Amino acid sequence: MRPITALTFDLDDTFWDNAPVMARTETGHYDWLHERVGHAEHFPLEEYQRRRLAFAARHPVRRGDFTWVRRETLREMLVEFGLEAADAAHWAEAAIERMLALRHEIEVFEEVPAMLDALGQRYRLGAITNGNVDLTRLAIGRHFPVIINAGESLAPKPDARPFLAALARLGPVPPSQGLHVGDSWREDVLPARRLGMRVAWIDKDDERPATLPEGVYRLGHIRELPALLDRLTE
Ligand SMILES: [Mg+2]
Repeated sequence: MRPITALTFDLDDTFWDNAPVMARTETGHYDWLHERVGHAEHFPLEEYQRRRLAFAARHPVRRGDFTWVRRETLREMLVEFGLEAADAAHWAEAAIERMLALRHEIEVFEEVPAMLDALGQRYRLGAITNGNVDLTRLAIGRHFPVIINAGESLAPKPDARPFLAALARLGPVPPSQGLHVGDSWREDVLPARRLGMRVAWIDKDDERPATLPEGVYRLGHIRELPALLDRLTE
């Protein structure tokens, strides 16, 4: 097997536990907006969530750009609530800024910074996320010469394009010399494997199928990655 020279990483639920981040972000920016415009009695949080799904369904090409979907849903809702168009746009944008601030209040797993320090000396590192985290806003972002926000670039994983773009910009590195690390079977493991990359699957719920495809390695936590890479290079 060819030596691994580049690593690509998913972000949410790979470098941090994302559920508490999203819970704080979701209620935090909505409550913040309600305190300023008082709309939530007419439009409770569940209605905002329902409308986001409906809005995304009406815009299939751009539905993976979650920030845009939220902003436009809020703007439409505030117009319906009775705000002038310019005020609705202003408050939707302000709520989105609040949302993005909360979205970046992230605690990476404690082993991650030192691990990336070490891996960055041996491998080229890239990040591929469908989410709306701007990795350059986090301290660990400095380790990544290549960052692909796949949802916002209209080709979210499992599309092959964000993987190919990352590999191209990391070298170019052929897929056989790349290893992708992520927690989603559908969005990380399958597309990376289909391209011929090796994959470290973070399966924290222990959902291991009876047999893993060749080239797919199961980890219970990202802290186990350096040991896997040592095994693969022996
Ligand atoms: Mg993930």
